[in-house]
Amino acid sequence: MSLATEPTTETKLYCTNHPQTETLLRCNKCGRPMCLKCVQRTPVGYRCKECLGEQRAGYYTATPLDYALTGILALVLGGIAVLLMNFINLGLFSIIIAIFAGPFAGGIISEVIRRVTAKRRGRYIALTAAIAIALAAFILFLLPVLPFLFSGNARAMSAVLNWGFWIFIALTISTTFARLRA
Ligand SMILES: [Zn+2]
Ligand SMILES: [Zn+2]
Repeated sequence: MSLATEPTTETKLYCTNHPQTETLLRCNKCGRPMCLKCVQRTPVGYRCKECLGEQRAGYYTATPLDYALTGILALVLGGIAVLLMNFINLGLFSIIIAIFAGPFAGGIISEVIRRVTAKRRGRYIALTAAIAIALAAFILFLLPVLPFLFSGNARAMSAVLNWGFWIFIALTISTTFARLRA
Protein backbone atom coordinates (compact mmCIF):
# COMPACT_ATOMS: atom_id res chain seq x y z
CA MET A 1 0.00 0.00 0.00
CA SER A 2 2.03 2.89 -1.14
CA LEU A 3 -0.42 5.47 -2.38
CA ALA A 4 1.67 8.39 -1.24
CA THR A 5 4.89 7.18 -2.78
CA GLU A 6 3.62 6.64 -6.29
CA PRO A 7 6.52 7.53 -8.54
CA THR A 8 5.89 10.66 -10.54
CA THR A 9 6.05 9.68 -14.18
CA GLU A 10 8.32 12.27 -15.69
CA THR A 11 7.49 12.71 -19.34
CA LYS A 12 10.86 12.75 -20.97
CA LEU A 13 11.32 15.10 -23.89
CA TYR A 14 13.30 14.14 -26.95
CA CYS A 15 14.61 16.50 -29.59
CA THR A 16 12.39 16.72 -32.67
CA ASN A 17 15.38 16.40 -34.98
CA HIS A 18 17.37 13.95 -32.83
CA PRO A 19 14.94 11.39 -31.39
CA GLN A 20 17.75 9.81 -29.31
CA THR A 21 18.68 13.04 -27.55
CA GLU A 22 16.91 13.90 -24.34
CA THR A 23 16.29 17.54 -23.71
CA LEU A 24 14.63 20.00 -21.39
CA LEU A 25 14.28 22.75 -23.95
CA ARG A 26 11.43 23.69 -26.20
CA CYS A 27 11.29 26.25 -28.96
CA ASN A 28 9.24 29.05 -27.46
CA LYS A 29 7.48 29.77 -30.73
CA CYS A 30 6.38 26.40 -32.12
CA GLY A 31 6.73 24.55 -28.78
CA ARG A 32 8.53 21.51 -30.20
CA PRO A 33 11.21 19.97 -27.96
CA MET A 34 14.69 20.74 -29.22
CA CYS A 35 18.17 19.79 -28.06
CA LEU A 36 20.91 22.35 -27.48
CA LYS A 37 22.27 21.83 -30.98
CA CYS A 38 18.90 22.63 -32.52
CA VAL A 39 17.99 25.83 -30.70
CA GLN A 40 19.49 29.26 -30.62
CA ARG A 41 19.20 31.63 -27.74
CA THR A 42 17.52 34.86 -28.84
CA PRO A 43 16.46 37.94 -26.86
CA VAL A 44 12.96 36.44 -26.68
CA GLY A 45 14.07 32.96 -25.59
CA TYR A 46 15.06 29.69 -27.28
CA ARG A 47 13.99 29.36 -30.88
CA CYS A 48 14.39 26.44 -33.26
CA LYS A 49 16.17 27.03 -36.55
CA GLU A 50 13.01 26.80 -38.62
CA CYS A 51 11.26 29.46 -36.57
CA LEU A 52 14.35 31.68 -36.82
CA GLY A 53 14.35 31.19 -40.58
CA GLU A 54 10.72 32.31 -40.80
CA GLN A 55 11.48 35.30 -38.65
CA ARG A 56 14.33 36.35 -40.94
CA ALA A 57 12.29 35.84 -44.09
CA GLY A 58 9.66 38.19 -42.66
CA TYR A 59 12.32 40.68 -41.66
CA TYR A 60 13.86 41.10 -45.10
CA THR A 61 11.22 42.39 -47.45
CA ALA A 62 13.23 44.31 -50.06
CA THR A 63 12.28 43.50 -53.65
CA PRO A 64 14.66 43.24 -56.64
CA LEU A 65 13.35 46.67 -57.67
CA ASP A 66 14.45 48.05 -54.29
CA TYR A 67 17.95 46.76 -54.97
CA ALA A 68 17.96 48.31 -58.45
CA LEU A 69 16.72 51.66 -57.09
CA THR A 70 19.28 51.55 -54.27
CA GLY A 71 22.09 50.94 -56.74
CA ILE A 72 20.98 53.67 -59.15
CA LEU A 73 20.30 56.27 -56.44
CA ALA A 74 23.62 55.60 -54.70
CA LEU A 75 25.46 55.79 -58.02
CA VAL A 76 23.80 59.07 -59.08
CA LEU A 77 23.80 60.82 -55.69
CA GLY A 78 27.25 59.44 -54.89
CA GLY A 79 28.37 60.70 -58.30
CA ILE A 80 27.09 64.21 -57.59
CA ALA A 81 28.87 64.15 -54.21
CA VAL A 82 32.07 62.98 -55.89
CA LEU A 83 31.93 65.79 -58.48
CA LEU A 84 31.22 68.44 -55.84
CA MET A 85 34.04 67.25 -53.61
CA ASN A 86 36.38 66.93 -56.56
CA PHE A 87 36.34 70.72 -56.95
CA ILE A 88 37.58 71.17 -53.42
CA ASN A 89 41.28 70.44 -53.47
CA LEU A 90 42.54 72.82 -50.84
CA GLY A 91 45.03 70.60 -49.06
CA LEU A 92 44.51 70.51 -45.33
CA PHE A 93 41.38 72.62 -45.53
CA SER A 94 39.61 70.09 -47.72
CA ILE A 95 40.28 67.45 -45.04
CA ILE A 96 38.38 69.59 -42.53
CA ILE A 97 35.52 70.05 -45.01
CA ALA A 98 35.50 66.31 -45.70
CA ILE A 99 35.05 65.43 -42.01
CA PHE A 100 31.74 67.30 -42.03
CA ALA A 101 30.66 66.84 -45.63
CA GLY A 102 31.17 63.04 -45.70
CA PRO A 103 28.66 62.12 -42.99
CA PHE A 104 26.32 64.82 -44.34
CA ALA A 105 26.38 63.35 -47.87
CA GLY A 106 25.99 59.82 -46.46
CA GLY A 107 23.01 61.00 -44.41
CA ILE A 108 21.28 62.45 -47.47
CA ILE A 109 22.00 59.43 -49.69
CA SER A 110 20.77 56.90 -47.10
CA GLU A 111 17.67 58.98 -46.33
CA VAL A 112 16.69 59.23 -50.02
CA ILE A 113 17.19 55.48 -50.46
CA ARG A 114 15.13 54.66 -47.39
CA ARG A 115 12.26 56.84 -48.57
CA VAL A 116 12.25 55.59 -52.15
CA THR A 117 12.37 51.94 -51.03
CA ALA A 118 9.67 52.62 -48.40
CA LYS A 119 12.12 51.51 -45.66
CA ARG A 120 11.94 47.88 -46.76
CA ARG A 121 14.89 45.96 -45.41
CA GLY A 122 17.23 43.80 -47.38
CA ARG A 123 20.23 41.79 -46.31
CA TYR A 124 22.43 43.42 -48.95
CA ILE A 125 20.81 46.86 -49.37
CA ALA A 126 23.53 48.64 -47.35
CA LEU A 127 26.26 46.78 -49.23
CA THR A 128 24.68 47.59 -52.60
CA ALA A 129 24.65 51.30 -51.77
CA ALA A 130 28.24 51.23 -50.50
CA ILE A 131 29.52 49.51 -53.63
CA ALA A 132 27.59 51.91 -55.90
CA ILE A 133 29.15 54.97 -54.20
CA ALA A 134 32.61 53.41 -54.46
CA LEU A 135 31.89 52.74 -58.14
CA ALA A 136 30.86 56.38 -58.66
CA ALA A 137 34.15 57.49 -57.09
CA PHE A 138 36.09 55.10 -59.30
CA ILE A 139 34.35 56.17 -62.53
CA LEU A 140 34.33 59.93 -61.91
CA PHE A 141 37.47 60.46 -59.85
CA LEU A 142 39.99 57.74 -60.51
CA LEU A 143 39.24 56.54 -64.04
CA PRO A 144 39.81 59.92 -65.81
CA VAL A 145 43.30 60.34 -64.34
CA LEU A 146 44.32 56.68 -64.43
CA PRO A 147 46.11 56.80 -67.84
CA PHE A 148 48.05 59.93 -66.79
CA LEU A 149 48.90 58.33 -63.49
CA PHE A 150 50.65 55.42 -65.18
CA SER A 151 52.73 57.81 -67.29
CA GLY A 152 53.85 59.53 -64.09
CA ASN A 153 52.07 62.82 -64.75
CA ALA A 154 52.64 65.16 -61.80
CA ARG A 155 49.24 66.86 -62.05
CA ALA A 156 47.47 63.51 -62.08
CA MET A 157 49.50 62.51 -59.02
CA SER A 158 48.47 65.58 -57.06
CA ALA A 159 44.83 65.13 -58.16
CA VAL A 160 44.78 61.59 -56.81
CA LEU A 161 46.64 62.52 -53.63
CA ASN A 162 43.72 64.70 -52.57
CA TRP A 163 43.38 63.32 -49.04
CA GLY A 164 40.28 65.38 -48.39
CA PHE A 165 38.55 63.54 -51.20
CA TRP A 166 39.48 60.10 -49.88
CA ILE A 167 38.39 60.97 -46.35
CA PHE A 168 35.16 62.38 -47.78
CA ILE A 169 34.36 59.28 -49.81
CA ALA A 170 35.27 56.93 -46.92
CA LEU A 171 32.96 58.82 -44.56
CA THR A 172 30.17 59.01 -47.14
CA ILE A 173 30.32 55.26 -47.72
CA SER A 174 30.59 54.31 -44.04
CA THR A 175 27.73 56.65 -43.04
CA THR A 176 25.47 55.37 -45.84
CA PHE A 177 26.32 51.77 -44.92
CA ALA A 178 25.70 52.28 -41.20
CA ARG A 179 22.41 54.15 -41.72
CA LEU A 180 21.00 51.59 -44.13
CA ARG A 181 22.14 48.75 -41.86
CA ALA A 182 20.36 50.19 -38.84
ZN1 LIG B 1 10.23 26.55 -33.50
ZN1 LIG C 1 18.50 18.23 -31.89
